[in-house]
Amino acid sequence: MEIQEIVLASRPVGLPSSDNFRPERKVLEKITEGEVLLKPLYFSVDPYMRGRMSSVKSYAAGYEVDKPILGGTVAKVIESKSPDLSEGDSVVGTLPWATCCIERPKNLKKINTDLFPAPYYLGVLRMPGLTAYFGMMDIGRPVKGDTVLISGAAGAVGIVAGQIAKIRGAIVTGITGSDEKCRMLREQFGFDSAINYKATKALRKEIAAECPKGVDIYFDNVGGEITDAAVANLNFRSRFVLCGQISQYNNTRISTGPALLPVLLTRSVTLQGFIVSNFSDRFDEAMSELTGWVSNGSLKYTETVIEGFNNLPQAFIGLFNGMNYGKMLVKAD
Ligand code: NAP
Repeated sequence: MEIQEIVLASRPVGLPSSDNFRPERKVLEKITEGEVLLKPLYFSVDPYMRGRMSSVKSYAAGYEVDKPILGGTVAKVIESKSPDLSEGDSVVGTLPWATCCIERPKNLKKINTDLFPAPYYLGVLRMPGLTAYFGMMDIGRPVKGDTVLISGAAGAVGIVAGQIAKIRGAIVTGITGSDEKCRMLREQFGFDSAINYKATKALRKEIAAECPKGVDIYFDNVGGEITDAAVANLNFRSRFVLCGQISQYNNTRISTGPALLPVLLTRSVTLQGFIVSNFSDRFDEAMSELTGWVSNGSLKYTETVIEGFNNLPQAFIGLFNGMNYGKMLVKAD
């Protein structure tokens, strides 16, 4: 059977471009005993994939040039030679950017798409949701009345992090890149206020205006100047949840900015960076809480779905210019 793959053609320098990716045709062998044939339904594109495209050693192994990109994918089993999965089952796993692929069930998790929409298994009910959960519940630890500030608030992690803080009784301000996203955060996701960082020249003052009692928890998804402005507003004994630094991922040299450590020192701030896999032994606990909140309507979710396998590179690049509202996904043809 002939399939199409998208491979990493070259390692990006700065912002990735479509030239860094290449479609390829390939013949897929027949499946053998213990394997399943999968047809992807939805592909997840995520900021951490940018790190895997570089040769710098990080927590996730780098992608190989001329090999397919790998990422979170919801797929359907179209043929099975395994007793563990049947034709028609839906699964989630880390799969190649390919129109069909062969896997072993031990690398897949069966999902029930009658219970929740398939895209949820790449967003709120998977890595982004778990990241928001542990970052907010374990590191931020909001209590009633706390002021919580979230950067990258309208993305996959930020939307969930903000709603968890609301569930805990906090007052939540989101920072994001358009007025429409600000409106969405307030009107659809219950944020108390939202700031369009692209429309303000004095972000530090705007944060002070929206968070008049100062910031007790800063959940950072972006870094850079937004974080400089947030840190200036941190309260005594506040928590700084260091989740992501997307504004820095395409840098070709180390950026410099205000020295933040003196502020963290004098205000006794606790800063903790984390990778969601640090909490892997507690994923079941988080999943049961997240599914409970989604089921009872206290946690809502949204996604931007780009149609077409060939648009995977564009969707991935779109993460760096704010194309997505909530989780960015690609729907297979
Ligand atoms: P996302 O927020 O859904 O998508 C990325 C968003 O970042 C864009 O929509 C854009 O929104 C914003 N952005 C892009 N470039 C920016 C810049 N230069 N300055 C400010 N904002 C920028 O992505 P996600 O999957 O939820 O991930 C959010 C962050 O969490 C990322 O940094 C990611 O690496 C991190 N993360 C960490 C872990 C962990 O284990 N620690 C796990 C998952 C994700 P705007 O319109 O608002 O600009």
